[in-house]
Amino acid sequence: MSAIVGHEAIVRELRSFAASDDPPHALLLAGPEGCGRGLLALEYARLLNCEAAASPGPSLPLPSLPCGVCRSCRLIAEGAHPDVIHLGPGDTLCRPRAGEGSHELHPDSRDIRICQVRGLIELAARYPFEARYRMVVIDPADRLGRDASHTILKTLEEPPGHTVFALVTAAPEMIIETVRSRCRRIDVHPVSRSEIEAGLIALGIDAAVAARAAAECHGLPGRAIAFAADPALMGDRDRLIARCARVAAGRVPARLAHAGELAEAWRRERSVVLRALDAWEAFWEERLRAAAVAPGPLDAAGPVAALRAVAQARADLQAQVQARPALELMLLTFPPVTLDADPEEEPTGHA
Ligand SMILES: [Zn+2]
Ligand SMILES: [Zn+2]
Repeated sequence: MSAIVGHEAIVRELRSFAASDDPPHALLLAGPEGCGRGLLALEYARLLNCEAAASPGPSLPLPSLPCGVCRSCRLIAEGAHPDVIHLGPGDTLCRPRAGEGSHELHPDSRDIRICQVRGLIELAARYPFEARYRMVVIDPADRLGRDASHTILKTLEEPPGHTVFALVTAAPEMIIETVRSRCRRIDVHPVSRSEIEAGLIALGIDAAVAARAAAECHGLPGRAIAFAADPALMGDRDRLIARCARVAAGRVPARLAHAGELAEAWRRERSVVLRALDAWEAFWEERLRAAAVAPGPLDAAGPVAALRAVAQARADLQAQVQARPALELMLLTFPPVTLDADPEEEPTGHA
């Protein structure tokens, strides 16, 4: 699935970048996972390399680029272009230092290491196989270790003309300032529900499924597409949010127990915890909306502080802060919740 849902303004901007004489050689695409950051990086690669844009003579008008049908466009969309490189934690591109005695592979490493950046720099110095512009997508870029960040800096400063970089991240503040400042930053925001619904329908998804997925995806088209592919995930989400409500209404011991469970899950399967954090976010956003429509008894400050706590926990986990204290802090920052105070459940008309 390669269609971008929403983000029209960003695509227009990328189009004008690609058509300029000196396209930005490094983008920083910042936004939550599932919002379309990776697809926008690939769109930039397609725009830079589309044969319809390059051909001398009459080329397509700007708004119809990329053409989507030329060899380059197709290969990129299929994830098969030899000059589109993905770099993330693991051992892709690992190049031990010359003369280094033993360097074990590290497929499960949690950060992007200096040896990988070394490999990347070597690669960037070579000409692409067939692209005009090789695209290197670094995702998540906030996992660049400290040494790795300093090593990549020079390449970002003086990039080889035929390589562009897209740094993808949900936590831009975790990337060192010197790296960030060398990138053109693009903030990728959540997409409106109606745009996502229309986008899913345009992708051929059943209208009823599209409506439900759009309603539950939190403005994240990637998640909506996952929901549409496996609607059972949506029920999972309802269940998780119901659990949030129970934990939030509980007292300190229940909250700490929940933090412990999540910390334990974090060691085994991170996605479980990330889904739980999504559910917490949804839970507090719902309460924030409730506070907005019924000012008075419900205060917005509590949900706002809670949402900050969720974002902080997410950033801490990504920064490899110890999971248990980070999650405990989050749970203890949450304001007390009385489930009965939910205005939607209160009888009306007896003021
Ligand atoms: Zn094309
Ligand atoms: Zn290595």
